[in-house]
Amino acid sequence: MINFIKEKCQGCGVCVEICPKKLLLLDKSEVNGRGHTPVSITDKDSCSQCALCAMMCPDCVIIISNDEDK
Ligand code: SF4
Ligand code: SF4
Repeated sequence: MINFIKEKCQGCGVCVEICPKKLLLLDKSEVNGRGHTPVSITDKDSCSQCALCAMMCPDCVIIISNDEDK
């Protein structure tokens, strides 16, 4: 499962560039409390949970969790 703490996102786009499946984008219809356009995912089901995006994010916005039992 991939989740985002959108309030922490600075809209830098590093995760958008790094995702090998090109699933991430900056959703221009949203603005967070910091005044930035936060990250969004186009298709959660296609995410391989490789965690590359989470590793590269400077603000720890992206959380990959293994909570399939819940
Ligand atoms: S975990 Fe991997 S596949 Fe999923 S959004 Fe991040 S970089 Fe893309
Ligand atoms: S989630 Fe992280 S890497 Fe992606 S745009 Fe936001 S701050 Fe940048």
